[in-house]
Amino acid sequence: MRFNQKIVETILTKCKGLSLKKQVKREEGRFLADKSYGFDTMFFVSRFIQRYRFGNIYRRDKRELENEYIRDLFCLRDAAQVGNYFTEALALLRFVNAMKCDSPDVYEIVDNDVLDIYSSSFENAYIFHYLLVYSIFNEHDLWNNYLSFCSAPTLAAKQYQYESYRKKYAAIDARVKDPNALWSMFTPKYPIVVLNYANRMNMVTRTGNVTENIVSRTDIALNVQGSRANQELPKKNAYLDNMSESYIIETLRPYLAVKMPEYKQVDDYLDSFSISVADTKLDMLDAKQGIVRERKSQGELYKFVGGNKVRTVQGEFRNGLLQKTPHQCPICGFAYENFLIASHIKPYAKCDDTYDAMNPNNGLLMCPVCDKLFENSNYMTINPETGKVEYIEDIKNEKEFLYLHEKKIAYDYIDCERRHYLKWHYKNFKEKHNL
Ligand SMILES: [Zn+2]
Repeated sequence: MRFNQKIVETILTKCKGLSLKKQVKREEGRFLADKSYGFDTMFFVSRFIQRYRFGNIYRRDKRELENEYIRDLFCLRDAAQVGNYFTEALALLRFVNAMKCDSPDVYEIVDNDVLDIYSSSFENAYIFHYLLVYSIFNEHDLWNNYLSFCSAPTLAAKQYQYESYRKKYAAIDARVKDPNALWSMFTPKYPIVVLNYANRMNMVTRTGNVTENIVSRTDIALNVQGSRANQELPKKNAYLDNMSESYIIETLRPYLAVKMPEYKQVDDYLDSFSISVADTKLDMLDAKQGIVRERKSQGELYKFVGGNKVRTVQGEFRNGLLQKTPHQCPICGFAYENFLIASHIKPYAKCDDTYDAMNPNNGLLMCPVCDKLFENSNYMTINPETGKVEYIEDIKNEKEFLYLHEKKIAYDYIDCERRHYLKWHYKNFKEKHNL
């Protein structure tokens, strides 16, 4: 069974004739030089471009937004590194002739298919990378070297094969001036590691040593791990865990270097969590700028939907709450689960980053009425120190709300990071109602 044949054919057509020799000037774009060109970087950057492009033009006049996006998704602190990810992703998009840049900071999108594929899912971004390397290797007769690498029976034999591949690569790649310089050593590394993931081959270090470890998805993604203080927060790279390996292998099967066992069942949820993470952040950036837009679906053509495992940030948020808190409204005790709403304490649009938006400690499962009262601090708040419910004068004498009188939520709800968010809500409530 072949999956998503259309993507494979499209990518191979795009990559036809791409050569390591032609790309001499750095500005003309670079082939996969290292991990910062990871498929996750390509996915996230392409998705950003799709959101902020104007027709076929993408202007880099939103560096601050670009930086905030990258900083959040990859949990980077060092501002200096941040800009590189965009620059390198754009360079690769130029290398594959998807974009042109005739004047500084103005990019013209000349091939929408490429951008659609890269931005459609993690899986497709990886598949693009794989077939790009496959094409380049065929163009330069490196594929046979790769086959020899894969079939070499021992680590030492693989090392030998890697050396001969590396030398040949260095002689072809116009960027490699001195084949013994360190960066020339690792330039051929990332492409082969990309292939190694799908072919379950060994890891190659930056200095060119073949190791016993088999390449994992974290080796080919940028995958900076979350380093937030709170243990409750999901890892920043949690989206990688959801990658559909079966879809990748079955799509690439005719182009694999080794025979892989067939998957009986293919996980086909490509409208996946990664999209939700990216779009949550983009929505947050939109909200900051006061932009309201109709949701445009992108890359429809390249979606492979069929499963029912679609995961969304709101869904993750609710699941987290269901796992961590009792299935009842903490204020009135209403417990019919289907009606319980995963209510953000600090509203989604005001969250600082995607992980605030998904953090169950930034939420409470509430009944529809309490949710309405609590939303945006409109009628009611909760004292973050005592758990006591406080509400505005207007509803104090309404008989429907008498049950709120002297109400306290259980201490368990505030004896954790949730207090941090409740403090925000409480302050917001006081300010809003001039209390
Ligand atoms: Zn309630």
